[in-house]
Amino acid sequence: MIVSVPECLFCGIAAGDVPATKVADGERIVAFRDINPQAPVHVLVIPRDHYPNVAALVAAGDPGKGLLDELIAAAGKVAAAEGIEDSGYRVVFNTGPDAGQSVAHVHAHVLGGRAMAWPPG
Ligand code: 5GP
Ligand code: ZN
Repeated sequence: MIVSVPECLFCGIAAGDVPATKVADGERIVAFRDINPQAPVHVLVIPRDHYPNVAALVAAGDPGKGLLDELIAAAGKVAAAEGIEDSGYRVVFNTGPDAGQSVAHVHAHVLGGRAMAWPPG
């Protein structure tokens, strides 16, 4: 595990060095609004610790003791706080180039507030 990477945008947001509209600011997890929202609710949920993607977080052998559980639980709490728990929402981990991952710090997208198509584009 790498605690933080100086050139990483989301490490910067977690540290408070890069401005973002945070909706949760916990000991190990931070959530903030996506700068280019794709739905009425579009929040990114990240661990403070740096992992390049969700697979790397899992492959690290869970040194953070339940960090992935905490990340998913935080996504659910964001959905509830945003009022989309009952209408429904999508939690997405883009992983690698074909998925369009553009920031190499694991992040869960929480998307909701409108009906979404399946399959995704
Ligand atoms: P990815 O494409 O890696 O799955 O998702 C990265 C997300 O980060 C994109 O939805 C993009 O809009 C968002 N993003 C990129 N730069 C910033 C930023 O500086 N601030 C915020 N709040 N979101 C960002
Ligand atoms: Zn990072």
